[in-house]
Amino acid sequence: MASDKELESLRGQIRSVTADIMRKVQERMALAAQVGDVKGRLGINVKDEKVEQEIRLMVLKQAAETGMSAEFALRLLNILLAESEAVQAQKQNRAPARQTHLGIFQKAKQLEASGKRIIHLEVGEPDYPAPAQAGAALAEAFKLKKYHYTDTRGVPQLRDAIAKRNKVAEDRIMVTPGGRFAVFAAIATLVKPGEELITIEPAWPTYRECADFIGARTKVLRTTLESGWTPDLEELASMITSGTRMIALNYPNNPTGKVLDKKTMDGIVALAKEHRLYLLSDEVYSDYSFKPFAGAHAYGYDKSVIVSSFSKTYAMTGFRVGYALASPDSIKRMAKVQAVNVTSVAEPVQHVALAALGADPQGNVKLMKKRLKFLSSKLKKMSMRFAEPDGAMYVYPELPKGEDMQLVERMLERGVAIAPGSGFGDSYRRFVRISACRPEEEMGKGLDVMAEEMGK
Ligand code: PMP
Repeated sequence: MASDKELESLRGQIRSVTADIMRKVQERMALAAQVGDVKGRLGINVKDEKVEQEIRLMVLKQAAETGMSAEFALRLLNILLAESEAVQAQKQNRAPARQTHLGIFQKAKQLEASGKRIIHLEVGEPDYPAPAQAGAALAEAFKLKKYHYTDTRGVPQLRDAIAKRNKVAEDRIMVTPGGRFAVFAAIATLVKPGEELITIEPAWPTYRECADFIGARTKVLRTTLESGWTPDLEELASMITSGTRMIALNYPNNPTGKVLDKKTMDGIVALAKEHRLYLLSDEVYSDYSFKPFAGAHAYGYDKSVIVSSFSKTYAMTGFRVGYALASPDSIKRMAKVQAVNVTSVAEPVQHVALAALGADPQGNVKLMKKRLKFLSSKLKKMSMRFAEPDGAMYVYPELPKGEDMQLVERMLERGVAIAPGSGFGDSYRRFVRISACRPEEEMGKGLDVMAEEMGK
């Protein structure tokens, strides 16, 4: 029949076009490998945001001229860009995985297991105890046999308590295994492979890692110590394309301790609203804020996802409990990922979290502020450059000379673990992160070792 023949002919043409596309893709990868070679010889970073954005704009123009969907064109291009980056990195023989604070933490733990004493200034884990009522709630949950599967989004009592605290309905809350899983659930459900997520560096590496995991493209807005770690709104605006789906914010910031001024936050929210972008606001340090802090919730934007945690405020890292606050629709989508992966947060832990909400964290907050002041004054005496933290649990000083990993490794040999600055972004090899989660005496000893090693 004529229609069969027609179909066969069309399929033949599709096969041939597909083969052409694949040949072209291969040609592109071979060129990327050559670029990787040249960059390696010149000592240039593989990733170049400016060049990527130029190619995006070119592709968008072509898409407009040919009537191709801009979103699809960008998704396809972003997949090519990611592959090209991997090929270039391979060519340069560079391990694409960066050393992060968690890598150093694992190394420090191994050293400890072999009998070495370590001062832990690399990890954001408070040393003070969880609230006493949390312990009592744990025992009570066992006694009352509250150790079953629960609603994926959490037990009603805890969801209600969190909802009340935030003055929202309970269908906007999901209790998660730590803030970390809320971040993953948001990125995995609200961003598609090939779409773009903007992060502001230096940044906690998880946003990028989640994006990598699902095949989305991370675009980086860099900030500098000189500008007080304030993101440039014009630059942010210039990065947004029709392929951009989400901006990830984290204030008070890990690693810099920065809290955004209201004007900058207003500007970011306005941009997100204008382009209908999801605004992932990771606010796990919101209680550790030493200057007024307006979280994303105050803006009432329907596409915001606010991430909170019990880990830092109540020193409950090992309980693994946090929550997401988002629109009912986003929560529904995020709950699917949670249901598939973990069913629900452990029921006893949810009762512990409920009890913890009744505790006053102000003692913890005061202690953290005092410790950060101690670290700051010590670093000043060492003539180091850094921005005094407005919040969170860290200081992020610049090294007067050398690179982060050299110092981190030398210090680890001497029993002091700190985090390399480059774990929070490739451009920050001159920085290190020191966390204020140990007593002053220990932190003091750690910094004395740092001063000695820097003087060498
Ligand atoms: N967000 C940021 C910025 C963090 O630093 C951390 C912990 N290091 C988390 C989220 C996750 O914390 P948790 O999963 O323990 O709630």
